[in-house]
Amino acid sequence: MSIISKKICLFGDFGVGKTSLVRQFVESQFSDEYLSTVGVKISRKSVNISSKDLDDGRNLQLLIWDIEGSNKFKAVAQNYFQGSKGAVIVGDVTQPETLNHIREHIQSFLAVNPKSYIVVALNKSDMIAAEYLENIRQMYQFNDLNNILDTYITSAKTGNNVDEIFQTLATHLI
Ligand code: GDP
Ligand code: MG
Repeated sequence: MSIISKKICLFGDFGVGKTSLVRQFVESQFSDEYLSTVGVKISRKSVNISSKDLDDGRNLQLLIWDIEGSNKFKAVAQNYFQGSKGAVIVGDVTQPETLNHIREHIQSFLAVNPKSYIVVALNKSDMIAAEYLENIRQMYQFNDLNNILDTYITSAKTGNNVDEIFQTLATHLI
C-alpha cells in the first residue's frame, strides 16, 4: 500500500502552544516548560481516514511543520507555507491579543495557499472556566472566510480536542 503524505503548518503568535499541540498529538506528552523550537521542526504522524468509497479507509501521513515564534517571521512565511495542504492557526485563550491576530495569520497563509483548508485552535482551555469557553469559540468563527473548517477549543495539556483538530484537517486532504 502506498503512503500519501501531506504537509500541514502550525501558525500563530509566540507562546500560544503550537509546539505543545504537536507534541501532545504525536507523542501524547505535555511539558510546562517552554519547548523552544529552533527554526522549523517537522513531525510525522499517520492518521486513518475512513471513506465511504474505500472499504477499509486509508492511511494518510501528516507532515506537521512547526516554526519557531519570531518577529522576523514575515520574511520567511512564504517559504514556510509553500506546498502546505492545510494549517492549524493557534491562539491562546489567556492572551486576547493572540486571538485578535488570528485573522491576520489566516490571511497570510491563504495568500500563499488559497485552496488549502484551515482549522482554528483556541488553546489553553484548561486555564479558563468552562462557562466562558463556548462564548469565546463563537467569537472566533471566521464564517466569512471560505476555507475555515471549524474553530476548536483545545488544550495541549489535557489533550482536549487535540486529535480532533488534526483529524478534521486530515479528512479534507484526500
Ligand atoms: P509555541 O511558542 O506556540 O510553540 O508555544 P509552546 O508550545 O512552547 O508553549 C508555550 C507555553 O505555554 C509553555 O510553557 C507550555 O507549557 C504552555 N502551554 C502550551 N499549551 C498549553 C495548554 O494547552 N495549557 C496550558 N496550561 N499551558 C500550555
Ligand atoms: Mg514553538
